[in-house]
Amino acid sequence: MPDTPRSALVTGASRGIGRAIALRLGAAGHRVVVNYNSHPKDADEVVTAIRKNGGAAIALKANVAVKGELEAMFKAAEDAHGPVEILINNAGIIRDTLLIRMKDEDWDAVINTNLKGTYWCCKLAVPGMLKGRWGRIINISSVVGLRGNVGQANYSASKGAIHSLTYSLAKELATRSITVNTIAPGYVETATVDVLSPQLKAKILTWVPMGRFGTPDEVASAADFLAREEARYITGVVLRVDGGMAI
Ligand code: NDP
Repeated sequence: MPDTPRSALVTGASRGIGRAIALRLGAAGHRVVVNYNSHPKDADEVVTAIRKNGGAAIALKANVAVKGELEAMFKAAEDAHGPVEILINNAGIIRDTLLIRMKDEDWDAVINTNLKGTYWCCKLAVPGMLKGRWGRIINISSVVGLRGNVGQANYSASKGAIHSLTYSLAKELATRSITVNTIAPGYVETATVDVLSPQLKAKILTWVPMGRFGTPDEVASAADFLAREEARYITGVVLRVDGGMAI
């Protein structure tokens, strides 16, 4: 039997992994908010694809690092689709450089977008989930949050903190049928990886037992599973989708 259609919100859904997750949730029959920050056309294209497939979707702009924009987005999401029941915290940025060269702005931008944005979205979604006594929070971190990486002190700190946030929230919300999990992807074929030099790509692939990059759809299929009713007993998990990279 298909799951009950839910109100879903995916941050950073205009491109890459977020786009693939939004398409999956739309195909599963959920009403999807496609959040974006700076690429409205890409977000509209995702909405059109979901609608063409018979699903319901709207695009809403909000910079996840700006609390007021998130408050407005959650209000608009609720007006359109009802309180958010499936929250995917996917929006994320990198500002890579060695610690000795890192500017405070590089640190703040990454922490505010990746970590504080995730915290704010959880805070805005949880009251409605508690009221409805059902919810799915799925954060997107990175294997770098587990293992660290040269030149990514800000990014790895933001993603590692998402793991701790996941554990605490999972405990806080467990009795209300609200699960909180995190997917930690390895290197995935998106704009983030496209810009790497061929030499660096070849070097990275030597770290991946499967010998290839992941696809956005492979991450989306894990999110799709964790959002399902049948995943109800899984909470507080950091699920690596990384071709074995962090073994
Ligand atoms: P992309 O750069 O391809 O896309 C990023 C998405 O996030 C875009 O939709 C972008 O929207 C959105 N976004 C960026 N900043 C903001 C913001 N301040 N507010 C709202 N939306 C924002 O990223 P990926 O698909 O590669 O990455 C998605 C997530 O997966 C990130 O959290 C990333 O850290 C994580 N990840 C990615 C890996 C990879 O190899 N690709 C590996 C491990 C983790 P817009 O363009 O409209 O501004």
